[in-house]
Amino acid sequence: MNYHQILTDITKKVQTLSDRGTSASYIPELASIDVNKFGVYLKPIDKKGCGVGDFDEKFSIQSIAKVFLLIKAYKIKGKESWTRVGYEPSGDPFNSLVQLETENGIPRNPLINAGAIVVCDILLDLLPNPKQDFLQFVRKLAVNDAINYNEKIVASEAATGFTNIAIANLIKSYGNLNNKVDDVLDLYFHVCAIEMSCQELSKSFLLFANGGIIPETNERILSLSRTKRVNAIMQTCGFYDEAGEFAFKVGLPGKSGVGGGIVAIHPEKYAIAVWSPKLNKKGNSYKGMKLLELLTTETDSSIF
Ligand code: GLN
Repeated sequence: MNYHQILTDITKKVQTLSDRGTSASYIPELASIDVNKFGVYLKPIDKKGCGVGDFDEKFSIQSIAKVFLLIKAYKIKGKESWTRVGYEPSGDPFNSLVQLETENGIPRNPLINAGAIVVCDILLDLLPNPKQDFLQFVRKLAVNDAINYNEKIVASEAATGFTNIAIANLIKSYGNLNNKVDDVLDLYFHVCAIEMSCQELSKSFLLFANGGIIPETNERILSLSRTKRVNAIMQTCGFYDEAGEFAFKVGLPGKSGVGGGIVAIHPEKYAIAVWSPKLNKKGNSYKGMKLLELLTTETDSSIF
């Protein structure tokens, strides 16, 4: 399979579409990004990767980092992780508060904001230096020490994150946060403000395509069974109330972020990351979704 040729062709097709999305202006620092940026990088498990466009430029990975949060907690707590957060799709927007009230402060899954906020609380109890330890973990997955938080984006989101502040307070009122709301949100905003390029992001997700092992270092991060479970959660919850649409049109487990990034994996084959800042109404990259749909359609290959 000549992936470079395929990516070049489908990028051209996607670039001819009029981009109907808008960037995530509710985080002021993200609103200033050039919305014409476009990058894609595909990394096969055992071959060199290839990319097109701005694949080497770092962007804010936002909610994509919720997958790293989840596996950090899952590695330490195992099945006990599921007592304070569920694994069912929410069918609601990523920042919804609605189910929290009817479900006693137990978020539906770890890939919506409420769920990731609870996982941050779990990690605050488990890690001696939560922000530094978490960043080290992501650097290990990416096999790259040049991964960092963008403090400007942390500050921007902290200043305007009223919905997340409300979510955390509601969860706290149900007794499902042990730590102070401010401390939990400080970790959450940092996690969302990790920056990576498409090239770095695809590499850091390769373990999910490789049965839980980082191919470059041969280190096992998750068992086969847990890898299956995390991939299942990405498939059913990774795109919030558009998870069905992504499964229907793309057919790969994946995760999006409001920075305009999407990462998806094809088990035993590759990880792919795409970046295009304009988002559709559900908060997922408009052109990123289109590109992945074209990839699996034109290569006749998905998990289904
Ligand atoms: N930091 C963003 C928020 O909490 C993440 C949302 C996302 O990427 N979907 O609103």
